[in-house]
Amino acid sequence: MISVIGIPTDKNSSYLKGSSLAPKIILKEFQSDARNTFAENGVELTLGENWKDMGSLSLKELNPEQEFAYIRSTIEDQLKNKNYCISLGGDHSITYPIIKGYNKFFPNINILHFDAHPDLYHDFDNNFFSHASPFARIMEQKLANSLTQVGIRTLNDHQNFQVEKFNVTVVEMRDFRPDLHLKLDSPLYVSIDIDALDPAFAPGVSHLEPGGLATRDIINIISKLDVDIIGADIVEYNPKMDINNMTAITAAKLLKELMGKICNKKPY
Ligand code: MN
Ligand code: MN
Repeated sequence: MISVIGIPTDKNSSYLKGSSLAPKIILKEFQSDARNTFAENGVELTLGENWKDMGSLSLKELNPEQEFAYIRSTIEDQLKNKNYCISLGGDHSITYPIIKGYNKFFPNINILHFDAHPDLYHDFDNNFFSHASPFARIMEQKLANSLTQVGIRTLNDHQNFQVEKFNVTVVEMRDFRPDLHLKLDSPLYVSIDIDALDPAFAPGVSHLEPGGLATRDIINIISKLDVDIIGADIVEYNPKMDINNMTAITAAKLLKELMGKICNKKPY
């Protein structure tokens, strides 16, 4: 069973707020009568049969430390019960406590990370838990066996230093080809920052960065993976920036393809 968990927080967002409003809207589009319930690989996604809606966590009253502890324990509870988790952010800071939760059950996790930004800052605006820093925390604590980033188009000197330090595999956008084949190991966790997509496909994000991926590029990469996917997140959708819900619909499509891919294999 896949647990879909809304994590509505943008406390660690450095520029714009709004991604805390995302989970409900993505799920509404996911369940909209405008589309059927089949992933492209033929898997039918049926509520209560192969996925469950965990709703959104109540985070408003929590301070950032309590919030991370709550996210982590929620993930651990689901994994303990043999449910894979797909988390809907929220800003990208949530990936750190999510991976902490995964680490208890999957100490050798590999991460595939789609993003315009490497999110490897040691700290950003003096915030170690910024949405610009989750992968620095994950890698320095050795919570992942490997990190592969796709769609990157904002590397600076500091982040290049971090890439070297943590031995990150980066497929920069300037080198990207649609027939990209990634060599990845199981178990794999997929983290999708919606701003990996070109703003033409996904205008509803806080940090618009032109020159990005097409929706089809991400779907193709996911569909071609021949490893066990054990969880995922879709983060950084900002409804305040969206046009006609097109980014929410795109996030819902990616959710559907991730779920279809996860369901197409045996449970752990
Ligand atoms: Mn980003
Ligand atoms: Mn990000």
